[in-house]
Amino acid sequence: MTEYTAPKASITSAAFTDEIREQLRYTQGVTPEQATAADVYVATAAAVRRHLMDAWMTTQHDMVTGSTKAVGYFSAEFLMGKQLRNALLNAGLSDQFDDAVKALGCDARDVIDAEYEPGLGNGGLGRLAACYIDSLASKGVPAFGYGIQYRYGIFRQEFDEQGRQVERPDYWLANEEPWGHIDYNRSQRVGFGGVVTGKDDVRTWEPAWCVRAVPVDYMVPGYESGRVNTLRLWSARSYDEFDLLTFNRSGYLAAVKPQVKAENISKILYPEDSTPQGKELRLEQQYFFTAASIHDAIRVFYPGQEHPDLTTLPDKICFQLNDTHPVIGIPELMRVMIDEYGYDWDTAWRTTTACFNYTCHTLLPEALEVWPASLIGSLLPRHLEIIKEIDRRFVAQLKTLTDDAEKIDRMRIVTLAADGKEPKVRMAYLATAGGSHVNGVAALHSELLKDVTLRDFSDVFGDKFTNVTNGVTPRRFVKLANPRLSDLITDGLGTDRWVSHLDMLKELVPLAKDDAFVRRFAEVKQANKVDFAAYARREYGFEIDPNTMINSMVKRLHEYKRQSLKILAVISQYADIKSGRVAAEDIVPRTVVFGAKAAPGYRMAKLTIRLINNVARVINADPDVKGRLSVYYPWNYNIRLAEHLIPATDLDEQISQAGKEASGTGNMKFALNGALTVGTLDGANVEIRELVGPENFFLFGMTVDEVEALYDKGYQPSSYYDADPRLKQAVDMVSDGTFSDGDRGVYKPLTSDWLNKDYFMTMADFSAYMDIQGEIETLYRDPLEWNRKALLNVANSGYFSSDRAIDDYLANIWKTGPMD
Ligand SMILES: *Cc1c(COP(=O)(O)O)cnc(C)c1O
Repeated sequence: MTEYTAPKASITSAAFTDEIREQLRYTQGVTPEQATAADVYVATAAAVRRHLMDAWMTTQHDMVTGSTKAVGYFSAEFLMGKQLRNALLNAGLSDQFDDAVKALGCDARDVIDAEYEPGLGNGGLGRLAACYIDSLASKGVPAFGYGIQYRYGIFRQEFDEQGRQVERPDYWLANEEPWGHIDYNRSQRVGFGGVVTGKDDVRTWEPAWCVRAVPVDYMVPGYESGRVNTLRLWSARSYDEFDLLTFNRSGYLAAVKPQVKAENISKILYPEDSTPQGKELRLEQQYFFTAASIHDAIRVFYPGQEHPDLTTLPDKICFQLNDTHPVIGIPELMRVMIDEYGYDWDTAWRTTTACFNYTCHTLLPEALEVWPASLIGSLLPRHLEIIKEIDRRFVAQLKTLTDDAEKIDRMRIVTLAADGKEPKVRMAYLATAGGSHVNGVAALHSELLKDVTLRDFSDVFGDKFTNVTNGVTPRRFVKLANPRLSDLITDGLGTDRWVSHLDMLKELVPLAKDDAFVRRFAEVKQANKVDFAAYARREYGFEIDPNTMINSMVKRLHEYKRQSLKILAVISQYADIKSGRVAAEDIVPRTVVFGAKAAPGYRMAKLTIRLINNVARVINADPDVKGRLSVYYPWNYNIRLAEHLIPATDLDEQISQAGKEASGTGNMKFALNGALTVGTLDGANVEIRELVGPENFFLFGMTVDEVEALYDKGYQPSSYYDADPRLKQAVDMVSDGTFSDGDRGVYKPLTSDWLNKDYFMTMADFSAYMDIQGEIETLYRDPLEWNRKALLNVANSGYFSSDRAIDDYLANIWKTGPMD
């Protein structure tokens, strides 16, 4: 007895097909017979947008006229993935689409493949923003996503003959992009540079140059909510105001220069994930989108009012700062209230602190943004004044709360100019002082934030600190990415309500005792593996055997994530077989799949990529391990690859050094798709393991406390190399040219780091990591038991829905909810 509640637009397949035909003929000017898959894609997108249009307008209207507080999610990145299938699902048009493409004589896959994936994010942080706006819309919470429409998204990754990463520009707007609506009539003016004049209490900022921020609006349709929210991404344009003076004096090119500079602001997404370079253009981008968004929110919520009562702003909208990138919004709202609307400092501060909240995403000190005060001063002189005044008052407040002068110095938002060092502005501190709440992104991370990273702040402002464990949207990452598993879950539960109530997966727990159901689950996984093998052949030319264990490690390439630990383990297993220590027949046949981009300037990460590619080349060409061990590194890891690989994965790697991965969201996607995890006690792994049960999770490695103790004791990586012959052999094979055609120099920086520094303690965790492989293989040899545990991972991972994360934000931070 299956009850299907999925939304279905009240339109027949024939009628939807006609709508697509009409778009083709009257908008694009092609007959259905001439239409390519790319034409049909554009036409379908337009048709779906039409279906969502009324709900979009109603939502905007209700948001402004209603009394429910809205959320403005400020994020420098939104890694949305392809839009078509998600929009069809949420518009209730999935079935009609399948019929329509058949009627039009084309292949659904070709139509979907015609969409170019927008890469407006680096990795987890940008994907989280995308999951959150999906959940907000699906709950019917009024919300805006605010960000930047970069012209070039994250680079397209290729590998050269040597296995090195090559970065290619991602000009994603080269072809028609049917989703974004450019709204020239709602653009905003954003100023930079110049001078501040006036007396102490009335200051006037005269920017030296201005940029026109033009909103590009994307619909964010909710699943089953009937609501469609807005993702507003700002694009930088120049003003037409041609500098005639310059033109006359020094010619055309000099006169256009400011225009070119203006448009550069939204030109490129910085490809650094977790190690930002303090570049001026980056600060320009941050101010550009937050200033435009704040002005936009005032325009939206006080329509046509010349003298709005901005003290009511916190009742209308609250702003969530996704990491420190938009923190410059805090002094901006202060400036707007004081300079543009004439409020006094205290009123402006009360309003500002009530509006803003901050999500911290890291524990790595190098990832906490710090700007030279002089840079802020030259780019945003008035903001620097305001930041200094915030700092002055903050220090005065601290003096009333503590006598500890050193502590107060440690907490300064603007550091003191000491020892010839110039003052710096610490954005995480500004966010903590200038907002109501600070949250970490997993239980362990939030504890470490309070105990380590922001310890002084949590001592003084303990009430501000809270946790919201990350989540992922079950629409994209289960329902759409894994239709077979989705059907099985719906069958098992007798309803598909789980798609928006993911805690219902718990009701699958009893079915893990039902061998017949577990076998069906195993068949789903196997079919997904066959699909992935076909995908990998088609897209990459790989020959993956779907009858091997699929063992994936996909995420950004970073030393703390420890791809090097995984590749050393692979090398070690290879060496075991080569040396005859282990008979090839005795190992579980395994296909290891890596996916990862490295920041272009990150030398160690790029060398690791080269090593992985060359290990793959050597192993895959070696007849001694054929059919037993193979390694693949599909290039350009992105959402699309994630959607194909995750449902097909048996074993997922989450092996960061304990205390370094704030949460992770890849780990959640894998658990929800029935992979088992081998991982450390880090980030959300801790909660995943607790929820799915320690017996259903492969735990290994040092804990946070053990890591700290080892740092304190004095860490000597070479002692681990000396102590474990497996490690010695693997490292030696990297040094001796096995993976570089005999050249012993290529990986020297890597091996030398491993043996002498190894900050993330790969050497120290190697033995434990190797030791748990036996346990993994033993379980894998018992398919029924493996799949039972995998099913229990699915059943107990409902907590990791972004819908639950949004519920936490709504209840504990935003204090708002769905519209009436
Ligand atoms: C989920 C996701 C990430 C984040 O992965 P982590 O393992 O949590 O770092 C990065 N990139 C893409 C494409 C993703 O889908």
